Amino acid sequence: MITMTRRITFSSGHRYWIPDLTEEENRTIFGQWASKFNHGHNYVLNVKVSGKIEPSSGMIVNIKLVDDILRETIKQEFDQKSINDEIEWFRSRSSCTENILLYIKDRLLSKDALTTLPVQLEELRLEETPLLWAELNLATHTMTLTRVYEFAASHRLNAPTLSHEENLRLFGKCNNPAGHGHNYVLEVAVTGEPDPVTGMIANILDIDAVVEDHILNVFDHKNLNEDVAVLSGKVTTSEIVAQTIFDLLAEQLGESLVRVRLHETARNMFEVSASSKLHTI
Ligand SMILES: [Zn+2]
Ligand SMILES: [Zn+2]
Repeated sequence: MITMTRRITFSSGHRYWIPDLTEEENRTIFGQWASKFNHGHNYVLNVKVSGKIEPSSGMIVNIKLVDDILRETIKQEFDQKSINDEIEWFRSRSSCTENILLYIKDRLLSKDALTTLPVQLEELRLEETPLLWAELNLATHTMTLTRVYEFAASHRLNAPTLSHEENLRLFGKCNNPAGHGHNYVLEVAVTGEPDPVTGMIANILDIDAVVEDHILNVFDHKNLNEDVAVLSGKVTTSEIVAQTIFDLLAEQLGESLVRVRLHETARNMFEVSASSKLHTI
């Protein structure tokens, strides 16, 4: 299968807001995102389609035709608009990332949109900010929400079962006795049933609180070899750190935890995926 992913951006105002609830109730559920005066995002939408290569053009689809549809069905409707006030569907629903993604899916699959082209819609990814995005897989009908965090920590790669020479050979300058440090970037992806009231598959405030309490408070501004009890006696490779973070989060989030990605530097990333099935939507 060959896929093509096209990206578009649009800037919109919105508020996390359930029209049937009072301002105070909205504030309780959505916190700072519930300002009645809106806030805004530069949304980034990735649209992945699949198809067969058409021999004469060498393409699965003319990208210009995809662009025309994305502009007419998505960009014109969302760009420079208040989603809650100017798009009818959201007058009675929250404009959380999950709901916007479901709305975009329906728009792209309507009879005058992508269905007119010789491609299949495979995946949509909508980024509200670089620290929050939702992904919808059309083949499995599953959705995930990803939140990004950062922590700074020092460490030294040193395996207690190996000799000094072996450690030096294996880890090189990462074995430096006084250590070195990273700004680790942590992605936490979760799944769940869309809440019938909020439309959210997970409450971001709840996820933030779990990560703050059980990960950031434990790892941030620490020496991973000396200060972090759960890593005691272990080699502090990013594989071990990522797996440890996954296990700590799984204790709190259970089957809603889908994936943890740990970027040690901009050049390497480690991923731990859950074996459990995703919720279908
Ligand atoms: Zn927002
Ligand atoms: Zn390192």
